[in-house]
Amino acid sequence: MTFQELGLRPSILEAVEALGYVEPTPIQDKAIPLVLEGRDIIGSAQTGTGKTAAFSLPILSKLATPERSPRCLVLEPTRELAQQTYDNFLKFSRFTKLRAGIVYGGVGYGAQRETLQRGVDVLVATPGRLLDHIGQGTVRMDRIQFVVLDEADRMLDMGFLPDVKRILMRCPKKRQTLLFSATIPPAIESLSSWALVNPAKIEIGARRSPADTIRHVLYPVALAQKNDLLLALLDKVQWESVILFCRTRRSADQAAAFLKRHRHKAAVIHSDRTQRERQQALDGFKSGYYEVLVATDVAARGLDIADVSHVINYEVPEHPEDYVHRIGRTGRAQATGDAFTLMTAGDAPHVQGIERFISRKIERVRLEGFNYQYSALFDEDRLGSLADRKTRGVRLGKGYFFGPARRRR
Ligand code: ADP
Ligand code: MG
Repeated sequence: MTFQELGLRPSILEAVEALGYVEPTPIQDKAIPLVLEGRDIIGSAQTGTGKTAAFSLPILSKLATPERSPRCLVLEPTRELAQQTYDNFLKFSRFTKLRAGIVYGGVGYGAQRETLQRGVDVLVATPGRLLDHIGQGTVRMDRIQFVVLDEADRMLDMGFLPDVKRILMRCPKKRQTLLFSATIPPAIESLSSWALVNPAKIEIGARRSPADTIRHVLYPVALAQKNDLLLALLDKVQWESVILFCRTRRSADQAAAFLKRHRHKAAVIHSDRTQRERQQALDGFKSGYYEVLVATDVAARGLDIADVSHVINYEVPEHPEDYVHRIGRTGRAQATGDAFTLMTAGDAPHVQGIERFISRKIERVRLEGFNYQYSALFDEDRLGSLADRKTRGVRLGKGYFFGPARRRR
């Protein structure tokens, strides 16, 4: 199908064309006609495959004319993601008179109140701040026709569920509800039955699997050598920009300090930093000023940054689904990307959890020329024989270091 055949309004098609989209992605191909038909949707598709446009294009198309009270609500788990989705709505609605607005925490209320007062058709929000506005009477939900839970499995987990329920209780029952994520759990239907009516299920690609454009491997290493291996990787691998994931805010700060001491331009993003600092880190990284963005899982989901050539898991994620999201920050929109996970002996149980989650073994590799100390990890049966490992390492090494050129922006 082409975009023209999907049934979108001309003003929306014009924006799609202006953005240079030629063909709909599989999730767009499937979801757009169903949203236009009025169906509720549970949609899963791999990271970086255009889920945002899959819901925003048909919604904008259906909203058609401005009314200046929120008729579409999109909930996002982080402020940065809310901003990104809002930016997408702006681009897609460029040739319409529809207006989008955004509210999230960590910044003042003034500008957001003004936006809401002037009136918006589409509201993108993080749950906590939206509830504040609802409580203060600065926004009403009684005209809502569309609710999108982006990163739906996250929005329905224990952390967000109470807020999300409170918000949806304020929305009219007669509405369309759309759930999207790269990691939709099998139990999603029962988890979300209170919010959806006869949802159409769309599943693109193998369930809960990383995008095919990402080459992801494990680097087993002794704990004492982890930092050395990180530096060696950054030294030997050809990369353009890297997101380095840590488990805690503290270890993110420490890793960033370590990288800076070794003359890498690094910025940090985690939830203890002010919104200004977070934005400054992200902007500086996008512009290329920082070469490494050190992050906690606050940046694991959704962020769409071009030219992230490598994701490095400095620490293995605690929740298996975060692995899929973290490594999904590279290899977006058909570009290829590499993801490395540094694995010490203590990480073994978590790695097994991830492998179960994605129903696949992750390849173990060694960095050529790195002076490895012995680690019990190297004795594991599943690493194969030493000889086997060596040949694989060499072959992979070549693929990596002098691998195919990446698509440039
Ligand atoms: P997801 O939410 O599935 O992770 P996004 O919606 O963030 O993915 O989209 C990833 C990237 O793909 C964005 O940069 C977006 O502009 C681009 N994109 C989306 N749809 C298309 C398309 N049909 N053709 C080309 N690029 C697209
Ligand atoms: Mg997304």
